[in-house]
Amino acid sequence: MEPSREDVAAMMAAATSFVTEFYEGLPHAPASHVSDGDVPALLEPPGEGPGELGGLLATFRDAAAHAVETAGPGYLAYFPAGGLFSSALAELLANTVNRYTGVSSTAPALVAMEQGVLRWLCAEFGFPEGSGGIVTTGASMATLSALVAARERLLGGPSPAGRIYVTEHTHHCVAKAAHLAGFTPDQVRTVPTSDGLRMDPAAAAEAIAGDRADGHTPFLLVGTAGSTSTGTVDPLAALAEVAGRDGLWFHVDAAYGGGFQLTERGRAKLAGIELADSVTLDPHKTMFLPYGTGVLLVRAVRDLRTAHSADADYLQDLRRDPLLPDYADLGPELTREFRGLRLWLPLHLHGVAAFRSALDEKLDLAEWAHRELLEFAEVPTEPDLTVLTFRVPGGDDDANRRALERINVGRRIFLSSTRIGGRFTPRLCVLSLRTHRPHVEEAVRIVRDAVLSAARGTPAAAP
Ligand SMILES: *Cc1c(COP(=O)(O)O)cnc(C)c1O
Repeated sequence: MEPSREDVAAMMAAATSFVTEFYEGLPHAPASHVSDGDVPALLEPPGEGPGELGGLLATFRDAAAHAVETAGPGYLAYFPAGGLFSSALAELLANTVNRYTGVSSTAPALVAMEQGVLRWLCAEFGFPEGSGGIVTTGASMATLSALVAARERLLGGPSPAGRIYVTEHTHHCVAKAAHLAGFTPDQVRTVPTSDGLRMDPAAAAEAIAGDRADGHTPFLLVGTAGSTSTGTVDPLAALAEVAGRDGLWFHVDAAYGGGFQLTERGRAKLAGIELADSVTLDPHKTMFLPYGTGVLLVRAVRDLRTAHSADADYLQDLRRDPLLPDYADLGPELTREFRGLRLWLPLHLHGVAAFRSALDEKLDLAEWAHRELLEFAEVPTEPDLTVLTFRVPGGDDDANRRALERINVGRRIFLSSTRIGGRFTPRLCVLSLRTHRPHVEEAVRIVRDAVLSAARGTPAAAP
């Protein structure tokens, strides 16, 4: 368990070959390699005696291959990011020094590095002095903390009177967080959408006024900056005004769309996000980082602290730094790894401009692919960001399901689907850092073949 210098070198060399071979194989790897009932027998317990690293890495390699290729350029389902190697390397380094960053006094300089990234993000989102945040494992955890902070500030704790406003397109992590925070399903109200996709600010104001008249306490309005189904951005500035007028906390779920704030076009689409009380974004989506990287930004970081700080006798030796936050006071976790390095190293190594231009490239690719889709498919939504939707012209749910199956069966690309207005709708999201023009051209060719073939197989509609 305590390797010699030579042992470490040998293990690192084995890991290096693993990593280089993985990247070399990515362009040719099938987009999906999962088949039902074919899980390798990996459920055995660990043995009492030692194993051999080469063999164990081989087991891991095979198990990792038996998966959807979420790191590859053909992954166009859900929200692809690819995963930056510099971030994976940061993870190895952070875990090697194994510093404790739940409180700042045990590793103040590392906490300062993480804090530097959070302050930069606050500035990118136009948040004022007094704002702050925390690096979480994802938007679901960040949403829970935001919701609890709003609850504490406006309701003073769990209350059956509290009301939360979402739309049918709001991510289910809000309902889940509400449930975990002690709210019943009827306390989460669904506001109508204006064009079937975007929260209607007038309808939100009306729902809030109606609930208040009925004796309830509206306290949280949730806008979405890039919905999961269609990538649609709610009218954030108008929603901020509605929330502000009525004294509600305005939370923006920018898990997907948030990263585009780094681009000029994205910033224009997300206008109004700077007025939010809290924003969640997922760097494991729109900043190309590996899974497990979310961020919560809060306009007044004291709200986060009020909702999460706790103390105990066995923590009495810890000093409080007046300048640096104790992250244990800003979220549910006490022990946390040095999570900041997975953001800090890529941002400092590649530079912020590299992220801005990679995201701009994805916006360009999505625009191009959208125009191509219009040539041969029914296109139910205009893309706000990089999620595209399409259907077989005149096709029913079965025809669209067949088209999606045909697209995915070739294993060059992998797409997912959603429902729009109740109808089965394939969707394509351009976001992986490894997805470039040739991959999107290939994807469009594959989609065209599948859509045209499904259209031919569709009986003409009865007159
Ligand atoms: C992905 C996503 C979430 C959930 O984030 P996790 O990181 O998976 O917990 C929430 N909201 C939106 C809009 C998302 O796309």
